Amino acid sequence: MKKFDVAIAGGGIIGGAIALELARAGLRVGVFDRQQPGQEASWASAGILSPAPENPGMIAIVPLGKASLSLYPEFIARVEEISGKSAGFRPKGTLEALFSQDAKAELSTIIALHHGLGLKAEPLRAEDARELEPALSAEVEAAVLRPDEASVDNRALTGAVLEAAERSGAEFFPGNGAREIWRAGKRCAGLVVQNENVEAKWTIIAAGCFSAAIKDAAPYAPVRPVKGQMAALRAEDLMIERVLWSDKIYLVPRNDGRIIAGATVERVGFDKRTTAGGIQKILSAAIELAPGLANARVEETWAGLRPDSPDHLPILGPTDVEGLLMATGHFRSGILLTPITARLVREWITEQRVSLDWDRFSPLRFQTSAANAAQHAPA
Ligand SMILES: Cc1cc2nc3c(=O)[nH]c(=O)nc-3n(C[C@H](O)[C@H](O)[C@H](O)COP(=O)(O)OP(=O)(O)OC[C@H]3O[C@@H](n4cnc5c(N)ncnc54)[C@H](O)[C@@H]3O)c2cc1C
Repeated sequence: MKKFDVAIAGGGIIGGAIALELARAGLRVGVFDRQQPGQEASWASAGILSPAPENPGMIAIVPLGKASLSLYPEFIARVEEISGKSAGFRPKGTLEALFSQDAKAELSTIIALHHGLGLKAEPLRAEDARELEPALSAEVEAAVLRPDEASVDNRALTGAVLEAAERSGAEFFPGNGAREIWRAGKRCAGLVVQNENVEAKWTIIAAGCFSAAIKDAAPYAPVRPVKGQMAALRAEDLMIERVLWSDKIYLVPRNDGRIIAGATVERVGFDKRTTAGGIQKILSAAIELAPGLANARVEETWAGLRPDSPDHLPILGPTDVEGLLMATGHFRSGILLTPITARLVREWITEQRVSLDWDRFSPLRFQTSAANAAQHAPA
């Protein structure tokens, strides 16, 4: 029987980064993936590192996002050094373009909201925004510059994290998915993978949007897939320096000259097909934001599945089963939240305390809400 200090179900960027942290802390770590690691959401992502909330529901993760963003430079340096691979980190800021007639009012609301949350944000007049990013449409009325934000090449970073974890001593078992959590009374004894039991003192479920399919994980991690379609464009005569946003689209420049455009948000189960309607939506919004992209070559289209939770917040931390932790449900921010997730899990396992309050993200919150709903249901 295989025996580890820590068994991790899922070798995406989250499972990989946790494996890296724990292996570097001297623990014996086994990562079990039902396929080749790093081929799901972490591969499909856009790689934007932005703690700014997209809607009021996301304000709860701002402290986590800010902490993670501040860990990024050190995280990238470590991963690149150990793996010998570049992660395509671009700490160049992001720029949100406003098109509305009352952009001025919108601008001051956004700036006030950001400052209230301790996020750096600068208002820009349309002409100043176009000076920074000449590819922007002439229809842009104003913009918000968030100078601290960044992006990574998430495919490169995920590959580098997995390589760094392996070089640090973590063992990977591709094609060996977890079927169930191995319970021994009130304790978790490890994982049941394909045809064997894997013994571990600590077990971590990090299988992204597939986590709920692992038997006994669903009450703690009721995650669902949310599809996002994407396109990679290349335009020889058009330069984009920063991540650009409108309310319909984002454009993410890569070091290799590609511009990633995305993404749709679709609740259609585990379907990863790209569709004519989805890609059309992305391309027309991309051209609206940067009209020069009309001549761009479409190099690739793809879709991936974000791991969403019922309240759209991550699911992080210990459960009521001794030795069992969840690290999933990162929805639209999993690349951003990777360094802080790995750090908090490592702290919990090695020191039984965490440096940032993660109770809001407890895997036990769904059981409480299910119990409350049952209590208040009409007889
Ligand atoms: C289109 C799109 C755009 C995105 N853009 C951004 C962005 O700009 N910024 C950002 O921060 N985030 C973004 N995200 C979100 C981010 O990509 C995810 O939150 C993050 O990648 C989740 O990582 P993960 O390791 O939890 O999951 P995944 O990368 O999905 O990895 C899960 C792993 O678990 C494995 N697995 C499945 N079932 C089992 C099993 N039973 N046993 C063992 N292993 C199993 C899978 O094979 C996979 O390797 C985006 C996501 C998508 C899809």
